[in-house]
Amino acid sequence: MQSTNRAVTDTLQNALSRLTQTRLNYWAEFAVDIPFGVVLIFAGLRRQAIGPLAGVLIVLLGLLLFSLFEYAFHRWLFHGSVEIFAQGHRSHHENPQGYDSLPFFFPALVLLALAGVLVALVPAAYALLLTGVVTLSYVVYGVSHFTIHHHLFRHALARDWAAKHHIHHYHADTNFGVTTALWDIVFGTRYKRAPR
Ligand SMILES: [Zn+2]
Ligand SMILES: [Zn+2]
Repeated sequence: MQSTNRAVTDTLQNALSRLTQTRLNYWAEFAVDIPFGVVLIFAGLRRQAIGPLAGVLIVLLGLLLFSLFEYAFHRWLFHGSVEIFAQGHRSHHENPQGYDSLPFFFPALVLLALAGVLVALVPAAYALLLTGVVTLSYVVYGVSHFTIHHHLFRHALARDWAAKHHIHHYHADTNFGVTTALWDIVFGTRYKRAPR
């Protein structure tokens, strides 16, 4: 019985590991997360009228919260000791233009859990809007990260922005933020060129 369970777990793990290297999985994540984010935002707005000030504050909070998640997941999970997360991210570091990513349904499940926690803490309309903003920020992050590795920017500001992430691929203990350097500044992990 135990060996059957083991065989089933191994087969599932292998299938999942193969799936997460495919282009289909890569783009399926966007196909799930974009409508999911839009639905969350509309569900929040339909539930209760949210004033313009509260709306702006929630959007800003969502952007801030996402940027912190982006930093924390990258630093402590993808470069951490949980093998299932670290393994896929190692593949990305080895082959930055590859399609290694999380299973396409996984981020939506985490975001759903986040919505559940927030609904218990604040009015549901705020919770849904906030999670929707976090979800669409995650989509923006995904597009940003893809573009950084597949596009040569012409504009100096865009090049500087992309360079921060390219540096992370050479100095993996610095520049964990992809969309923003904010949390690298806060936590002191911004790449500093060694003095000559
Ligand atoms: Zn990268
Ligand atoms: Zn990394």
